[in-house]
Amino acid sequence: MGVEKLLKVIPGKFKMDVYQLLSLHGGYTCVARKPRCGSCVIEDLCEFKDKTEV
Ligand code: SF4
Repeated sequence: MGVEKLLKVIPGKFKMDVYQLLSLHGGYTCVARKPRCGSCVIEDLCEFKDKTEV
């Protein structure tokens, strides 16, 4: 999803913090080498199901 498309679906009250929230999500849950999909709150929306941890 591109940034413009993403910003269209982010509720207004979160837009100021979206970059920090995504950074935290990438740092603690969607970790590059081993994403923690089992505890991810957007797992049902994620299009990268093959990354699911084992
Ligand atoms: S479900 Fe998707 S967004 Fe969530 S941690 Fe896994 S790969 Fe990342």
